[in-house]
Amino acid sequence: MQRTAIIGFGCAGFHAVKALRRHGYSGEIHIYSDAGDPPANPMLTTYYVAGKLAWEGMFPFGGLEVLKREYGLTLHLDCPVVSLDAKTRCLTLGDGGKESFDHIVLATGARALVPPIPGADAPNVFCMRTVEDARLLRQRLEGGVKSAVVIGASMVGIKLVELLQAQGVAVILADMAPHIFPTAALPEVAGEIQARLEARGIGLRFSRPIEAIESRPDGLTVCLGGGERLDCDMALLCIGTRANTQLAGEGIETGRGFVVNTRMETSAPGIYAAGDCCEGLNLLTGQAQIIGLWDNAARQGETAGANIAGVTPLAVYPGNITHNITHFMDMDFIGLGDNRIAGTCKTFPLPGRRGRVDIVTHAGLPVCVNILDEYRISGVLKRFLLKTLEDKGARLGPAGRGRLEREGVPAALIDYLEGRN
Ligand SMILES: Cc1cc2nc3c(=O)[nH]c(=O)nc-3n(C[C@H](O)[C@H](O)[C@H](O)COP(=O)(O)OP(=O)(O)OC[C@H]3O[C@@H](n4cnc5c(N)ncnc54)[C@H](O)[C@@H]3O)c2cc1C
Repeated sequence: MQRTAIIGFGCAGFHAVKALRRHGYSGEIHIYSDAGDPPANPMLTTYYVAGKLAWEGMFPFGGLEVLKREYGLTLHLDCPVVSLDAKTRCLTLGDGGKESFDHIVLATGARALVPPIPGADAPNVFCMRTVEDARLLRQRLEGGVKSAVVIGASMVGIKLVELLQAQGVAVILADMAPHIFPTAALPEVAGEIQARLEARGIGLRFSRPIEAIESRPDGLTVCLGGGERLDCDMALLCIGTRANTQLAGEGIETGRGFVVNTRMETSAPGIYAAGDCCEGLNLLTGQAQIIGLWDNAARQGETAGANIAGVTPLAVYPGNITHNITHFMDMDFIGLGDNRIAGTCKTFPLPGRRGRVDIVTHAGLPVCVNILDEYRISGVLKRFLLKTLEDKGARLGPAGRGRLEREGVPAALIDYLEGRN
């Protein structure tokens, strides 16, 4: 009987399992997870910490017993894989045991990046990636916290700022980048969001590297470049992630993540990778990069599972564009495309609202869209961006145009997208 190992049971691992069975795979499926929980949705962790979601709410695909029965799984929980022989597809487990497989899916995700600065590992310094991180943070907040510094003005960072402020904690958001959402926001849009945050009493520090975190008997001091020292009860690190590629050994090609083709095959025969541990194609730039999104992990996992099950023709996942949606403090920010590509930027205020749409075009192509406070149009605009990558002259089409008109988008914006002049 064929045997497949899935290493890591998050979004990518779960979708690989689902696709295997959906496409008729009747072999053994062994799940190796260094955690003891069902697959979790990391983006729900902040809702748990905020008390808006029960613990079980972080596990969208149900409990382990149900998944085991439904998909015929052999579960190896709290059982990290410590090394992998890519030639023989043999895993070495934490307890020294060895197991060989016909196929392997590396779905090991990513870990929160802890910067190499003094004090980053001190008590009262927290990260936010796993359900365990969420449990520890919630426990600490229940112990009483008056002040916090959130380091990293990312989508995760802003969710933490929001939940801390809602609990009466005085918050400062700090980043070495020049503005909020540095990988997604255009500077002017970021400026508007920052003004709104300051008006709500959030302290902001940008273009300031974090040099050290010092422990004091009654808390911490976060030391910023330029000499500023911020005393606080706790610090939260949200400065990004690193792909878990430790299993690459010598046999699997690796860049920032495992290198895969569009069938999710790594350079080692029979070994696939999916999700935040591997790269994907950024359709806008044509470059391989870690895309780091839930939908991307799901589709890469599905592709790996379908191909192991032997679908014909082989399943292909062409890649994606970056797409961030975040809701915080009564605001919606959506970033589509790549904010690093220079071009002509046009701003369209949304009438009757305080929101705006900013579009950067380069060589006639929309390359970056920022939307403030109108999430309902993001799907149409993302589809439009994808269409223009296939056909530079693509139009919105009647359905897309109608949707934008119904949502009250100004005619000038629609005409601009259609004419791009
Ligand atoms: C706070 C937060 C908010 C987010 N918000 C959004 C959002 O709004 N929209 C969006 O699209 N995406 C968001 N994301 C990103 C999204 O959650 C991820 O892209 C997605 O969950 C990745 O899934 P994955 O299966 O690749 O990895 P993971 O969920 O990280 O799962 C990997 C699993 O593998 C396990 N593992 C690792 N190494 C080993 C080993 N050697 N042996 C056994 N097991 C191992 C890990 O412990 C983990 O359980 C957010 C992420 C976070 C943290």
